[in-house]
Amino acid sequence: MRALVVHPPTPGVELGEVPDPVAGPGEVLVDVIECGICGTDRDIVEGKYGRAPDGRDALVLGHENLGRVRAVGDGARGFSAGDLVVATVRRGCGSCRFCRSNRSDFCETGRFTERGISGRDGYLAASYADVPEYLVRVPEELRSAAVLLEPLSVVEKALEEGGIVLGRREPTRDPPTRPLRALIAGTGAIGMLAAFRLRSDGADVTAIDRHGEGTSAATLLREIGARHVDVSAGLASLGQDRFDMIVEAGGSATLDLGLWPVLGPNGVLVLTGIPPPDALPVAVPASRLFRDLVLNNQALVGSVNANRTYFERGVRDLAVFRERFGSAIDRVIGSRRPLSDHREVLAERAEGSIKTVLTVGPPSGPR
Ligand code: BGC
Repeated sequence: MRALVVHPPTPGVELGEVPDPVAGPGEVLVDVIECGICGTDRDIVEGKYGRAPDGRDALVLGHENLGRVRAVGDGARGFSAGDLVVATVRRGCGSCRFCRSNRSDFCETGRFTERGISGRDGYLAASYADVPEYLVRVPEELRSAAVLLEPLSVVEKALEEGGIVLGRREPTRDPPTRPLRALIAGTGAIGMLAAFRLRSDGADVTAIDRHGEGTSAATLLREIGARHVDVSAGLASLGQDRFDMIVEAGGSATLDLGLWPVLGPNGVLVLTGIPPPDALPVAVPASRLFRDLVLNNQALVGSVNANRTYFERGVRDLAVFRERFGSAIDRVIGSRRPLSDHREVLAERAEGSIKTVLTVGPPSGPR
């Protein structure tokens, strides 16, 4: 079958042929409809990240997936042919307490694999097989936005992590007199999905990037009632505002450190971007940063990946976004391109497109 193949850590990507998957007993065979492309995929193609399965040098790329069940093997319960499904990414080490509790996103040994990223083939192929445990069914009416479920699961987990820190300060004798003030740094898919989620929870949301007001991200933010600020001239553009929660989705250590001064008292800074390992060192007034952190009861939390609980929460929230913001969530996907355009799509983000999606299978409707 056709598949998009990489050879980490060698840069490059090619449309090649790989063996058809065989769905064993207890497994589900899924035809891939489409996959979203993110910074992690681009890093893998540039040779900066990723690992092929043991004993091989080729890896099938793709982790933000959407597919339709073609066949269900003997003993695989809970799915039927024709179901729309999204598969989770990480497969646990099998030995640590988190992986044994289906929470491999908190794996303690680091011996996990990630489909399409690290040690296990991904979803940019005609089809794949997996066990029901890793598949999440998506209602047909969410089809047009369902490929956003994997990045949304990452957001769901990050917001839960940040929320736990903020929750430690609650309840107070006086009720909250104002909504949560949230700052989102970066208006790629993760940042935008965080904005949707926080707005639907009633938070006061500001999102920053280095672009003007004419982008689709800025337009969408206004549409869902969030504020967009272009900080290309510096964070001073935020004025005196301070935030209870900052969600960082840019992957730059310089940006991460720059956000500290706008974090409010008792606030939490949640990092989701993965900075490159080889970036130049940044000089930091560490003593000052830690002093402020202690004197203000602040917290810094890193969050990666998501287990199926967060995918299930994402399904619920995609429906909430539809109800609250109409078709706005569909417009997070700026363009859908055929698999044959993979080189351009993987080389750089399409102008004005928050999320670009590669179409794998024929447009498929319910059977
Ligand atoms: C994926 C996560 C993964 C992380 C680190 C992200 O792009 O969405 O599932 O854990 O990369 O590999």
